Amino acid sequence: MLSNQEIKCQVSTCKYNDTNKVCTLHDIQVGNTGSQAHEKQETQCNSFQAN
Ligand code: SF4
Repeated sequence: MLSNQEIKCQVSTCKYNDTNKVCTLHDIQVGNTGSQAHEKQETQCNSFQAN
């Protein structure tokens, strides 16, 4: 991983989201909402944890 890499995320209700809309995890897991995503709406962050 590049040292200057960051994960920008607007999900402010996640406990890993800081006040600057950046994910504080070093890596995340992104999955499909169904069988196979063909649109971005069909993907989701599986690392999400509610505040
Ligand atoms: S874990 Fe996922 S939802 Fe939570 S801040 Fe990181 S990228 Fe966003």
